[in-house]
Amino acid sequence: MAALLLLVVGFLLYFLPSLIGSKRRNANSIFIVNLFLGWTLVGWVVALAWAVAAEPPVPVVAPAHVSAPVARTPYLCNLCGKYSEPSGLFCPLCGAKKLPQITQTS
Ligand SMILES: [Zn+2]
Repeated sequence: MAALLLLVVGFLLYFLPSLIGSKRRNANSIFIVNLFLGWTLVGWVVALAWAVAAEPPVPVVAPAHVSAPVARTPYLCNLCGKYSEPSGLFCPLCGAKKLPQITQTS
């Protein structure tokens, strides 16, 4: 029973840096260092130092408004010969059914 307790305490002590750093952004990196280099003690100290080190503040980036509309080529009606919005099935000017357009690339 004492051996089991010692094992559990040792396990918790070994992964102490990971437990401390579990709420951090680089928690996975801390865990990797802790897991693979923790036994060297230097790796354990590095992981612990990393876990308690002050995190740089997360830069607050305002979400860029996606206001720029996607450049759509206007629909050229083959009946009235006028340009209109490419959306919709019918020409808003003469009511003709829209046909698939051949877009000019040159
Ligand atoms: Zn039309």
